[in-house]
Amino acid sequence: MSSSPHMSIANAIIGNVKETANNSDISIDNSERLRTSIGKVVCVGRNYAAHAEELGNEVPSAPMLFMKPASSVVSIRQGIERPNPAIFGETHYEAELCIQLATDLSKATLEEAKQAIGGVTLGLDLTLRELQTELKEKGHPWERAKCFDGACVLADWLDANAFGDFKNVHYQLNINNELKQDGDSALMLFPVYELLVNISHAFSLQAGDVIMTGTPSGVGALHAGDVLTLKLGAHEWQTEVK
Ligand code: ZN
Repeated sequence: MSSSPHMSIANAIIGNVKETANNSDISIDNSERLRTSIGKVVCVGRNYAAHAEELGNEVPSAPMLFMKPASSVVSIRQGIERPNPAIFGETHYEAELCIQLATDLSKATLEEAKQAIGGVTLGLDLTLRELQTELKEKGHPWERAKCFDGACVLADWLDANAFGDFKNVHYQLNINNELKQDGDSALMLFPVYELLVNISHAFSLQAGDVIMTGTPSGVGALHAGDVLTLKLGAHEWQTEVK
């Protein structure tokens, strides 16, 4: 091999990703942001009625919030690594529309929330479902099921201006070429701006923080070798389960 060390590293990073050609216009290289700027990842549970129903949960009257630590974040370019299934049970995928803040946000108005959005992408809120169910039944917190290393998989950040008012954003997750999740932000129980306002009244958000806005129905277990394709408008990312 005559390639330079620099080339080898680049190849390793992009090895599992295939992007459509027209991605380059507004796609932002997120490797730097992923490493340095995320303080916390705020996740919204049960933001789609159909997903609440499939897990036998009630539809909430206020956004149900939980967090993932920055240490759980990985780029989709790294591929998906599950905790050992023999020890931890099934890892489920949850494809979600994700927002990154460009500015701090505290007790925000709708207009301030709108102005604070810096980037948009898709992510996978990976969940140890069997462990989560066990913890829920005991009334215990579920960090063990949601916060493991690699539990927050993020694709590349896109410019927020391309998404209008976020009322009409479509996204999909295909696994091995089969459609598994079909997301439409019009079906969110709490839409993006309202979510940011609501969260910012519960606690302060900081520039770099990520919001995972909840998963549509169709969640399920990942298996070794599964090829996942995430689609957001004309953008597409592909990654494989190790
Ligand atoms: Zn989720």
